[in-house]
Amino acid sequence: MEKKAAGAIISVVVPAYNEEAVIRESYRRLKQVMDGMDLRYELVFVNDGSRDGTMEILRELAKADPLVRAVGFSRNFGHQVAVSAGLDYARGDAVVIIDGDLQDPPEVIPEMVAKWREGFDVVYGKRVKREGEGLFKRLTAFLYYRVLRSMTGQPIPLDTGDFRLMDRSVVDVIRSMPEKNRFLRGMVSWVGFKQAPVEFVRAERFAGESKYPLRAMLKLAGDGIASFSVKPMKFATVLGAALTAGAFVYLVVSLCLALIAKAMDPWHIALAGLLLLDGLIFCVLGMMGTYIGRIYEEAKRRPLYIVSEEVGFGSGGNKTETEGLDD
Ligand code: UDP
Ligand code: MG
Repeated sequence: MEKKAAGAIISVVVPAYNEEAVIRESYRRLKQVMDGMDLRYELVFVNDGSRDGTMEILRELAKADPLVRAVGFSRNFGHQVAVSAGLDYARGDAVVIIDGDLQDPPEVIPEMVAKWREGFDVVYGKRVKREGEGLFKRLTAFLYYRVLRSMTGQPIPLDTGDFRLMDRSVVDVIRSMPEKNRFLRGMVSWVGFKQAPVEFVRAERFAGESKYPLRAMLKLAGDGIASFSVKPMKFATVLGAALTAGAFVYLVVSLCLALIAKAMDPWHIALAGLLLLDGLIFCVLGMMGTYIGRIYEEAKRRPLYIVSEEVGFGSGGNKTETEGLDD
């Protein structure tokens, strides 16, 4: 708790991909906000393999300002990976993740820090309004967050991107999750801890254009569902069961009709048999899906549980201390 007081260090992680038109202004705005707070901080920029002058600008900034550190990727690895790298390099007692294009207003950071000092471990930015984004993006985002929530059955907060503050304890847990397809906002929700929102208006991009083409957006959307839900795979089982049941009814009805008419229509019987077989195949696929789902869950190698507090283990939570134990 005392770390959250005056001596605290806040790391601000900023991913940047081809942001030469914005990055200086982002730095200036961040600096202005962070200087206005009574704490120590560092700005960790992650250049995600930009092909423009972003890295040169970052080098320049880091040279001029000891509070700036910049990491450059050898190529573009994607936003979620860039942010993950930022978490690895950040040294703060809390880490803020913020987009480099000023769509997430830095002015919200003091509010996040205040909530953190109140005792929250994760403070996420909840968009109450999006400025300068088309109807298509707004509508797809609106629907996506709701589908995601119903598919995963996990309380991933609605209308929330990656703009958030995380306590060191949360950052360390996220870093211990080695999955490759990273959907950070889902992972952060999955780890638990005390979470609280702060509302903000999503601004227009300061300059340049979105680095998230529809393709990348769809991949992120797919990752979100596939990383947190095996429900799509269960679809085969449902389909199989429905087909089998339907085919069975069809078969019985055909046989009854054949008995009444005292004449057998081979078409109906053949079709019913075929459908029955199809249904069974889908059922088997679903069964295999269940096992693949388990392999998948295991392959993610997430921690089995996450401890946020230890009480009565002696000073510093050292479990090997035997003081107070009768032998
Ligand atoms: N970004 C990144 N790597 C990428 C794509 C984007 O680091 O491959 C950064 C980008 O520079 C920005 C943030 O991620 O700071 C959000 O990207 P963008 O603004 O293009 O997405 P949008 O706001 O349109 O969803
Ligand atoms: Mg943006």
